[in-house]
Amino acid sequence: MLQQLSQLEQEALAALADATSAEAVHTVRVRFLGRRGKLTSLLKAMGQLPAEQRPEVGRLTNEVKVRLEEEVSRRLKAIEEEALTEALLTGPVDVTLPGRRPPLGHLHPLTQVLEEIIAIFTSLNFTVAEGPEIETDWYCFEALNMPKDHPARDMQDTFYVADEVVLRTHTSSVQIRVMEHHPPPVRVISPGKVYRCDADITHSPMFHQVEGLLVDEPGRVTFGDLKGVLELFAHRMFGPETAVRFRPSFFPYTEPSAEVDIQCVGCRGGGCRLCKGSGWLEILGSGMVDPNVFAAVGYDPESVVGFAFGMGVERIAMLKYGIDDIRLFFENDARFLAQF
Ligand SMILES: [Zn+2]
Repeated sequence: MLQQLSQLEQEALAALADATSAEAVHTVRVRFLGRRGKLTSLLKAMGQLPAEQRPEVGRLTNEVKVRLEEEVSRRLKAIEEEALTEALLTGPVDVTLPGRRPPLGHLHPLTQVLEEIIAIFTSLNFTVAEGPEIETDWYCFEALNMPKDHPARDMQDTFYVADEVVLRTHTSSVQIRVMEHHPPPVRVISPGKVYRCDADITHSPMFHQVEGLLVDEPGRVTFGDLKGVLELFAHRMFGPETAVRFRPSFFPYTEPSAEVDIQCVGCRGGGCRLCKGSGWLEILGSGMVDPNVFAAVGYDPESVVGFAFGMGVERIAMLKYGIDDIRLFFENDARFLAQF
């Protein structure tokens, strides 16, 4: 009996070793371990043994059974691995499967709005002029009709780099530089970073501006042209149905001066929190260039007329997209930026 058991085990192991497919392994398993398999038959034959031998033979038979089951699992696993390796080495690679795309970024919302503003004005034949962010007191204030003791300077308190040297509070300084080097006519916009001592949810110590300047002979430029240009800008930026109004104001470098409002984008004029109930939102400042500014750059104030305007890019972007906190632009939170 024990000899038969040992023989059966050797036979089964040899058969498993020869089995090269999962199906063949299963067949071997059924042949030896199945309900009608050889090992089961042998167990049944145990009944003919003398009673004192039965426990010992039973134990050994069980051990053989466990060893054979283990071998079956090992063979199945080995065959599976071989099949996978074989498939990888010889099988076709599907080159049409899509690859893994690295996530792609996009332009910052402020850059998008800035580019949109520039595109609107360049379509009207304005050219783009740039200048230094660190300016002398002359270019930033004095040439723009703001003498040292002028109270208007309080509106634009800034950072001093040295005596007479400041971080520019507006890009109007670029207009002075352009006029110094170019005789009229002039038609430029100057986009760029500007700085002021301001910080709350609608003011940032650094922000972006676009200023515009158009200078030509008297009779060729009027306040009507200024209105036309800025209305066209507002309609392209906020939609053709947007109402625009001009409101008298004061700037040292323009006379007369006007603030430009658009109908509130939040309530369409009815009054809401965004417009503080007025139905209007201020978008920029403008006016006819003060003769003192022309005199400062060496133009003859009697022989030129011009208009100028200036807007904050952040403010335009906040109104366009309904953003109520300017700091969101500078926190670089991808969840915010990804929405544009
Ligand atoms: Zn409103």
